[in-house]
Amino acid sequence: MDHRICPLILSLTIILLITNDCHGRFYGRPFVDQDLESTNPIDMDDQLDAQGRLSSSSSSSGANELLYLTSKHAKENREWALQAQKHHFDQLLGQVSGVAATKDFLYIFHRGNITWDQSSFNDDNIYQHQDRPVNVDTIVAVDLENADVMFSWGKDRFYLPHGISVDPQGNLWLTDVALHQAFRYKNNNFEQADLVLGERFVPGSDSNHFCKPTDVAVASTGTVYISDGYCNSRIVVFTPNGHYVTEFANNDNLRTPHSLALLENEDLICVADRENDRIMCYSAGLTSSISSDVIRRPPGLLLFELEQSELRKVYAIAHFGDVILALNGGPQSTVGISIDLGTEQIVDVWSPQNGSFYDAHDLSLTPNGRTFFVCQLSSTSSSLNNNQSKILKFDLEDYPVFISE
Ligand code: ZN
Repeated sequence: MDHRICPLILSLTIILLITNDCHGRFYGRPFVDQDLESTNPIDMDDQLDAQGRLSSSSSSSGANELLYLTSKHAKENREWALQAQKHHFDQLLGQVSGVAATKDFLYIFHRGNITWDQSSFNDDNIYQHQDRPVNVDTIVAVDLENADVMFSWGKDRFYLPHGISVDPQGNLWLTDVALHQAFRYKNNNFEQADLVLGERFVPGSDSNHFCKPTDVAVASTGTVYISDGYCNSRIVVFTPNGHYVTEFANNDNLRTPHSLALLENEDLICVADRENDRIMCYSAGLTSSISSDVIRRPPGLLLFELEQSELRKVYAIAHFGDVILALNGGPQSTVGISIDLGTEQIVDVWSPQNGSFYDAHDLSLTPNGRTFFVCQLSSTSSSLNNNQSKILKFDLEDYPVFISE
C-alpha cells in the first residue's frame, strides 16, 4: 500500500461495494436511496475484518444484528429547491460557475449576462471583450437554510467568473479565466482584493502568470494551491503572502485540472483532471499540520490516481473525511458519486430528485459537513430539468447499515 491512506481510514464509514482490499474495484452495487426502515443492503455473508472494514465471507450462520454502521447518503433537499424558486434565482443569476459554503452563507459566483463562447478568446487565449465586465453583482450571498439573498457585490469587476472558495480564515478566493488571475478578499472587506495573483488579461505559464485558472484551495497553514487551468496543466503553490513556492503535475498530462480538494489530515491534495476522466491525488507538503507518523514529503508527489471505469469528466470535487464527492459526467449526463479513498470504492451515487443534473459545474460542503451545494452552469432556466434551480442543496443523511454474523 506504500503511500496510500487505506490502512488509516474508514473505521465506521460505509463500504457497501465491498472487498477487503484496496485496489479500487467496483462491484456495481451503487448506494441507492432507500427508506431507512427497509435498509439492509449488505449480504449476510459480509463480515468485518480487523480494521472494522467489511469483507466477504462464506459464513452465513445466524441473523442477529450485531453491529450498526453509519454511512452518509446524499439526498437533495427539496425545501431548498422550492425556496430558491420562490426567490427567482434563475432570473437573478447568469451562468453560475462556482459556489462556496461557509457556516453563515452560501456564496454564489456567476457571470450575469456574459457567457463563455467561441468568441470569448483568440487563439492566444487573450480575452476579446476587455471593455465588458459583468455589469451586475457577481457574488451573491444567500442564507443556507431558506435561500434568502443576504447581500451581493462584485459589479464591474470580473469578466468571466470561474472558481470560488473560502479559506480557513474566512477569506474569499476567486478565479477569473478572462483576467487569468486569482483574487483574495478579506471577509471584512469586499471593496478591494488584498491579494491578486497573475497579471490582468495576460496569460502565461511562469511563476507570475496563469492561463485560465480554475480553482483555489488553501490550507490552515495559509499555503495556497491554484489549479491552472484550461490552458496550463499544473498546480501552483504559493505562500500565504502570495510568493511562488513551486508547481507540480506539469508532467502528468493533465487536461483541464478543474477543481481541488485538500485533505489536510492525510496531507493530500486531489485534483479533478476533468478531460482525462480521473482524479489525481498528490502530497500537499503540509508537514507541520499532519500527524507525526506520516513521512515528511514535499508537495506534489503523485501518490495515487482514481480512474475507475465509472469516472467521466470530473467537473468538481470536495470531501468529507476521506470520502470524495465528485460531479461526474458530461454536461448533460452528470451524476454525483462518492468515493471512499481508503478502498477507492464508489459508496454512493446521487442526483436531483427531479431528474438529473444539467451542466453541473461546482460543489461545496458546509463546514459541519452535513450539507453541500451544487451549481448548474446553465444560462437559462429553460435548459434545466424539471424546474430545477441553478443551485441545488443536498443533505448528507445517516444511512444505517446492520451487519449480521
Ligand atoms: Zn469550468
